[in-house]
Amino acid sequence: MAGSVLVRQARLPGRPAAEDVLVLDGRIAEPEATAPADIAVVDAEGLLLLPGFVDAHCHVDKTLWSGPWVPHAAGPRLVDRIANERARRTELGLPSATHAAALLAHMATLGTTRVRTHTDVDPATGLAGIEAVAKAAAAVAGLVDVEQVAFPQDGVIRRPGTLELLEEALAAGATTLGGIDPAGVDQDPVRQLDALFDLAARHGAGIDMHLHDTGTLGAWEMDLVAERTVGHGLQGKVTLSHADALGTVPDSERHRLLDVLAEAGINVVTAAVYNVPVPSVVELRDRGVTLACGSDGIRDLWGPYGNGDMLERAMHVAYRNGVRRDEDIALALDAATYGAARVLGLSSYGLEPGSVADLVLVPARTVAEAVVARPPRAVVVKNGDVIARDGRLV
Ligand SMILES: [Zn+2]
Repeated sequence: MAGSVLVRQARLPGRPAAEDVLVLDGRIAEPEATAPADIAVVDAEGLLLLPGFVDAHCHVDKTLWSGPWVPHAAGPRLVDRIANERARRTELGLPSATHAAALLAHMATLGTTRVRTHTDVDPATGLAGIEAVAKAAAAVAGLVDVEQVAFPQDGVIRRPGTLELLEEALAAGATTLGGIDPAGVDQDPVRQLDALFDLAARHGAGIDMHLHDTGTLGAWEMDLVAERTVGHGLQGKVTLSHADALGTVPDSERHRLLDVLAEAGINVVTAAVYNVPVPSVVELRDRGVTLACGSDGIRDLWGPYGNGDMLERAMHVAYRNGVRRDEDIALALDAATYGAARVLGLSSYGLEPGSVADLVLVPARTVAEAVVARPPRAVVVKNGDVIARDGRLV
């Protein structure tokens, strides 16, 4: 029976005793439902049951996963890394559907069942990345669902033709519009933002913008984004990835910005990579701003790190937050599960009856222990089917 499974004696977060979880036709069944006699059974025996992880920010079109080890050779600045990637990607066969599919399948073995990936769109590569990722997504259908952001890595205004390509990408399967540092990269914040919001509004698309600009400049750009989000009625559909300004302005200004983001329904995504500022999980929860996390680059020309493990990513978020209490550590996993699901606009996500049955079983007693220990994934279920056991696809 495809899409149906009985998970026996799983430990659910916050519940006092292990219990059976029945999945029918790809969804978690109501408590009164009965299991058919021939249903597949997973004996959880006290393993912790979590909803499938959601990687809210990665770049699978850039990855070299399953390919050669390529020593990092870019200079130290963001613009150096952009230039290095443009100089070397063709020689290395990027974007590659093969590498992207290999990484996505690996992520599935680690319990990631949904991914939002930012795919480069620029005049040099055109829609080759969008097409490669679509091909990879088809190859891993049934393991992990992939959403593409059309991402102008190299700028919008400073690269004529990019805006038209972004529009083509939305017609070609990308569902969200990306952006990058309207000031830092494009040197023309109002023009970039007006162009992107106009495009998003015309296509009914959301926006997920990389915003590395710091301090007063980044804060001003956040105000500009909030103003346009409300103006176009895009509350809940706009996300700021990284949002470095939050970590580089005085406390009072950060509090003001968080209120602005909450008021405009703007989400924040962090990757907690390198030494970039990481938003406070507690503060964002208290101020009502949705926080998600994602891997960002995984073994690509931007850096050698990353492995697609969202428990490890949640650990980085918690560790960089300096939190130690179970309930605060759990907020980091929330960024890789429920928070990320809100950012992706997923309905029917979670462990409640009626939810899509994307599930992970891990040997841990609590969510905090799962984040801290990052144990192996014993079983991964996608749409009610067991797709991986002990780190291998079945
Ligand atoms: Zn990114």
